[in-house]
Amino acid sequence: DTLGHPVGDALLTDVARELSHLAGEGVIFGRIGGDEFGMLVTDFARRGDVLALAQRIINEVGRSKVVRNARITIGTSIGIAFSSGESDTIDDLIRNADLALYRAKDAGRGTAVVFDDTMHREAEERRLLQEDLRLALDGGQLRIGYQPIVSVRQGDIIGFEALVRWHHPERGLLLPSTFIALAEETGLIESIGAWVLRQACSDAMTWPAHMRVAVNISPAQFGSAALLNHVAEALAASGLLPDRLELEITEALFMNHLAESDGFLRDMRALGVRIALDDFGTGFSSLGYLTRFPIQKLKIDRSFVSGATDFENRKAVVEAIVGIAKSLHFETTAEGVETAEDLAWVRSLGCDQAQGYHFSKALPIDHVGAFILGFGN
Ligand code: C2E
Ligand code: CA
Ligand code: CA
Ligand code: CA
Repeated sequence: DTLGHPVGDALLTDVARELSHLAGEGVIFGRIGGDEFGMLVTDFARRGDVLALAQRIINEVGRSKVVRNARITIGTSIGIAFSSGESDTIDDLIRNADLALYRAKDAGRGTAVVFDDTMHREAEERRLLQEDLRLALDGGQLRIGYQPIVSVRQGDIIGFEALVRWHHPERGLLLPSTFIALAEETGLIESIGAWVLRQACSDAMTWPAHMRVAVNISPAQFGSAALLNHVAEALAASGLLPDRLELEITEALFMNHLAESDGFLRDMRALGVRIALDDFGTGFSSLGYLTRFPIQKLKIDRSFVSGATDFENRKAVVEAIVGIAKSLHFETTAEGVETAEDLAWVRSLGCDQAQGYHFSKALPIDHVGAFILGFGN
């Protein structure tokens, strides 16, 4: 991810040197592009030898080093494809290795994955789903579910989070985990994101005037100039007051794009829109950064909340986050409040708001009005 940066380029040259050493005699080795390298191993006794080579690469390349006074650790992911016979071309091999590499990346750094045939079928599935997704937006198949966010002290609804759903004509209801990543890869996220913003703002206009709507912003939308326009247009078209719109950015995204974050947050502040850091507690924020940016809320990741009464260390994390938030005057929302015990617990720790299945799952827009009326009765 430091490609194009002098330190990154110097590192890659080092990595190339190390790799060609590790590859040894009889291995064809080269840079495929960007930060990807390819090796063609033609002479090995057992498949295990190739796996051992992969492990050696992961260990050696992944050893942390000091480059220009910075300690740097390189994460390595490896995809391996074995030729199944004469009919395989080198292009087949590279494509298969690439599919395996994709898997290795998903599995997290320092992983080697061997290609198998199911990966073809799954790649084909992804391709089909991507085609469907292109039609989904225009075809009205995307809908928004609204999940209530409740004030812990007063026990009333302060707003709703917009969570996108795909009502696929054949596959039924699909959750964002099955299609947001696809949308990001194809660039469709930009139009989907714009649509969610517009729809969420106009839906929020039908709610009581003190209620906010929270919209998730994906990494691929972030830092693009179009996002500012989409937010401004959604506000203008609906007439929603800017401080009723809250954008949720994951803590990890924020930390990985500090330079863009700065400009983006300043633009949003100028518009009067609120910012929440999502999945907080999982992204290793430096506290110094938090004080520098105009953020209004931390959403405590549900991995610290659901069932957390059982675990002392989670308790310590949540207490620390709430303490930081209070001293910096941020609001806090605890995600994943599933039971009355979870709620009692986040109340005892001083969280401002709670969200989770204990109150409700995400609701279709035509159920929101009745939910608001019935809440607390
Ligand atoms: P998120 O922003 O962390 O949203 C909360 C997720 O937790 C939602 O999953 C919600 O249904 C689920 N959840 C809520 N309460 C509970 C609970 O008590 N227990 C448990 N176990 N889960 C709970 P969902 O709707 O599947 O969304 C998953 C993720 O997809 C979201 O995570 C968000 O990152 C992303 N997403 C959703 N809508 C959009 C969107 O319009 N645009 C973008 N870019 N991303 C979206
Ligand atoms: Ca990479
Ligand atoms: Ca969220
Ligand atoms: Ca979250």
